[in-house]
Amino acid sequence: MTFPPIREELRGLEPYGAPQLDVPVQLNTNENPYGPSPACVADIATAVAHAASGLHRYPDREHVELRTALAAYLSADTPHGVTPEQVWAANGSNEVMLQLLQAFGGPGRAALSFAPTYSMYPEYARDTHTRWVQGHRADDFSIDLDAAVALIEAERPSVVLLPSPNNPTGTALPPEAVGRLATAVGEQGILVVDEAYGEFRRAGVPSALELLPEHRNLVVTRTMSKAFAAAGLRLGYLAADPAICDAIRVVRLPYHLSAVTQATALAALRHAPELLGKVDELRAERDATVAWLRERGLQVADSDANFALFGTFPDRHAVWQGLLDRGVLIREVGPDGWLRVSIGTADEMQAFRKALTEVVG
Ligand code: PMP
Repeated sequence: MTFPPIREELRGLEPYGAPQLDVPVQLNTNENPYGPSPACVADIATAVAHAASGLHRYPDREHVELRTALAAYLSADTPHGVTPEQVWAANGSNEVMLQLLQAFGGPGRAALSFAPTYSMYPEYARDTHTRWVQGHRADDFSIDLDAAVALIEAERPSVVLLPSPNNPTGTALPPEAVGRLATAVGEQGILVVDEAYGEFRRAGVPSALELLPEHRNLVVTRTMSKAFAAAGLRLGYLAADPAICDAIRVVRLPYHLSAVTQATALAALRHAPELLGKVDELRAERDATVAWLRERGLQVADSDANFALFGTFPDRHAVWQGLLDRGVLIREVGPDGWLRVSIGTADEMQAFRKALTEVVG
């Protein structure tokens, strides 16, 4: 027996995560490159100081004030509005989705997604002993709805995970897809539309939040890590039928959201217009980056997110390394030959273009 006595199927596995390297231009984890203003920092500091005076007590387990503020924020994206009872939050949308698998996956059950997609999904399944079923996207990274419905009907998954926009391709789901897939999943399962990058979607692309009243099995997850410019906060959340939130309450750890997290998130939400203020600029920078890459004869996936997947390169690692040698860190992820660049500031994108021109000519 080798030490430590870790579960057999976990032996030798590497933990998930992008390299965290201290280089001048970091375009590898889809963060918002713009930090908070001094006024926002001061407001957060005051809120945390207030929370600190009550640290001898456990925080509000049900995080009611935060759920109320998140519901108000989400209500702007759907004519039906969102109530606090429909909202649940945790430490990043990764934790929200793991909780969903803990409550709705498990032995004898299956979870399904369509590759290439976010590589944490199979890990949630592995960690909850849920069978993992992987469908595939078409060559343009869209989902063939007929094939997807057939796979769902054959496998009867209890959780379907669909990011829109998708990571690492940036592909958004067309509006008719969510309704059709939610119906195919039926009430023996849940359809999770992961809108981690939802705020970056192009004009005219609706949020799946609009379909919540029609589909009790629909869950829409969001995060403050991306457009909201608060990756360091670790705050993700979902909107769904209140019965789904109640199911998660059974599996969540008590007091999973610290008083400091709740106070910080509430203060950040008060500064939503500022923190989200660069989204339009980042969208424009994304469209310019996609156009520039295409002008160079590269393939680029259409993107509704704050990153672009481009290629293809016979030796993508050499391109990634060449950029890194020039102080530009991007991500070696996605199908063979492709690379993903997060959208940074105008100066950072200039550095990316210069470095890529040097590396690939
Ligand atoms: N969903 C997708 C599609 C992502 O790309 C990420 C982060 N890379 C997450 C969820 C998780 O983000 P967080 O836990 O920071 O909310």
